[in-house]
Amino acid sequence: MEIRIEGNNYINETDCVICGKEFTFDVVNPVLYDDDGFVWGVCPDCLKLTPGEMKKQFLQRIEEIDFLIDNLKSYRERYNRYIKEDINTPTFAEFEKAIKERRVEA
Ligand SMILES: [Zn+2]
Repeated sequence: MEIRIEGNNYINETDCVICGKEFTFDVVNPVLYDDDGFVWGVCPDCLKLTPGEMKKQFLQRIEEIDFLIDNLKSYRERYNRYIKEDINTPTFAEFEKAIKERRVEA
């Protein structure tokens, strides 16, 4: 894994591959490469970090991703239950009637 300095022909906002914070691509940027090739841009703040500090950032990103995965899994389990359950729901006409009645009251 290495970080290279590369030129950029268009300037835009992106998220840093190391810390995840948004930053503006400049005309020249640090860019992360791994064994598979180009990964993504590195913000100027992360370029100031030592390799050890960068690894701490990656650990933090892993924890954030694990949290997101856990959340997604819980939604998946919930939807998996829903497809097996009966759904008791009012008709759309009942919904519209309730709105009209409520507006008259107000
Ligand atoms: Zn960063």
